[in-house]
Amino acid sequence: MNLKSWKTRILLGLLIVAFAYFQKCSKTEVNPYTGKKQAIALSVDEEIAIGLQSAPEIAQQHGGVHYDQAARNYVMQVGNKLVQSSMAKDTPYQYEFHLLADTETINAFALPGGQIFITYALFSQLENEDQLAGVLGHEIGHVLGRHAAERIAESEFWQTVATGASVGADAGNLVAGIGQNTLLRNGRGDELESDELGVRFMMDAGYDPYELIGVMEILKAAAGPHRIPEFQSTHPDPDNRIERIQEAIENYRNQ
Ligand SMILES: [Zn+2]
Repeated sequence: MNLKSWKTRILLGLLIVAFAYFQKCSKTEVNPYTGKKQAIALSVDEEIAIGLQSAPEIAQQHGGVHYDQAARNYVMQVGNKLVQSSMAKDTPYQYEFHLLADTETINAFALPGGQIFITYALFSQLENEDQLAGVLGHEIGHVLGRHAAERIAESEFWQTVATGASVGADAGNLVAGIGQNTLLRNGRGDELESDELGVRFMMDAGYDPYELIGVMEILKAAAGPHRIPEFQSTHPDPDNRIERIQEAIENYRNQ
């Protein structure tokens, strides 16, 4: 290949990146609940649909829902109390809280649109209702923070760059193109934002927000080679996170 055709290729590549970047910017909107500017490729209805479509498979990977109906109801009640007492109730999302049978993986996670899960392994380590509220509040934060939708937009951006074509979300086939990694992996900034939102929801519902720090301590103690909870996976420094939670509590108290 001669120099001229290389130049043409590089130019073409740059054009594709510029086009993808332009597309991404054109999708930028301000999250009405967090005030954060985000590039989002999905509507709220699409987020809800993706969550509902992926929920059964993801629940199955954790042994399905736990058999203890009283425990399942308890998780639902605490989750609903957080929603009803906070700005989460004014969002269009359909919140549902599920207790999963998994006794091995200490974890909690949220799908876009409001499907929220906690494993029995984590649930059974919690010392009180406030800590459960902390876990669920943090996950509600991921939902209304639209973190999964943001990651989907991000992965579309790179797909566009990689394939040189416009990869729009096909409403009929939303889940197929989105890997579980994209759905469930949160960035460091997402975690901190969800901690802050979790603190707010806890306080709005009358829970003791310092118990979210208790949750962090439990996760720290439980961490091992086979146990990488969602809460910790993106955080090399949980102590820094505890500090930020303390700050968030004081800031929200003074508002
Ligand atoms: Zn999280």
